[in-house]
Amino acid sequence: MDSNDSVLYNEFRKKRVKLFKRLILFVIGFFIALPNVLSIFLIISLHNTNSSLDKLSNELNILKNTRTELISSEENKTVLPEENEIEEDYVLKVLPDSKEYEGQKRVYLTFDDGPSRYTNELLDLLNEYDVKATFFVIAQDGYDDEYKRIINEGHTLGIHSYKHVYSDVYSNISGFKNDVDSIYDYIESITGEAPLFYRFPGGSSNTIFKGDKDDLIDYLNDKNLVYYDWNVTSKDATNGGLSKSQIANNVLKGIESNSEAVVLMHDANDKHSTIEALRIIFESLKTRDDVIFLPITEYTEPVQHVIKKSEE
Ligand SMILES: [Zn+2]
Repeated sequence: MDSNDSVLYNEFRKKRVKLFKRLILFVIGFFIALPNVLSIFLIISLHNTNSSLDKLSNELNILKNTRTELISSEENKTVLPEENEIEEDYVLKVLPDSKEYEGQKRVYLTFDDGPSRYTNELLDLLNEYDVKATFFVIAQDGYDDEYKRIINEGHTLGIHSYKHVYSDVYSNISGFKNDVDSIYDYIESITGEAPLFYRFPGGSSNTIFKGDKDDLIDYLNDKNLVYYDWNVTSKDATNGGLSKSQIANNVLKGIESNSEAVVLMHDANDKHSTIEALRIIFESLKTRDDVIFLPITEYTEPVQHVIKKSEE
């Protein structure tokens, strides 16, 4: 290496050292400035958050005030006696019978095959004991007053069959539809009210219909009809006829063993013993607070012997 080379090399070294010093100064400066910049940024953010919080708290206050106003206007409303009564009535009606009459035996007396020459006597007896019941009727010309009386006195008027001839009703699905339509229209035209409840002739478990029972149930559903079978039978339709005390005993036993008893009885021209048995039943239960007689309504749990296959 000559002297010329040595000068050039020294200058190059000096420049490099200078550059290196500047770099170190820059890095130190950067790290000193960084916390300050961050602090300024945080202060700005904090300020923004504060003003957002202020806004939110204002909105919350407005909401609180509105709520207080609403509650106090609601309280003012519910002290009105008329409103209270409506409220109570509504609650009772939407409850199913099993909830509304919890702890009581619910008895639904049902009378099939009427009206008959005894219908008025039967209605008088029900009135005497202040009992409401359900009638599943057939078509009988000349009995318009009885159909109407059943409804007017607070009983339920369900439909059963037009002429109650098994071979017609259950011949096939169209025979069934025809029978249901006929009794439905017949009752609606007399009472002005569309029927809501149905009882199969012979019950839903009858073995006369050879087709698919689902088709029959589908048709009732289409017509908005709910069918009720029974879980207590009075056996008042037994051939030869049971005595009034035998019929009464069957019913009383059935009531004791069911919290909801749907009782099968008949309102027919040859069944005066049913009415005599009813008096025995009412007399023996009249002091029982835990037994209540009710008409079937849309809040009554259906008792059904056969249900749709898909619902089994
Ligand atoms: Zn019948």
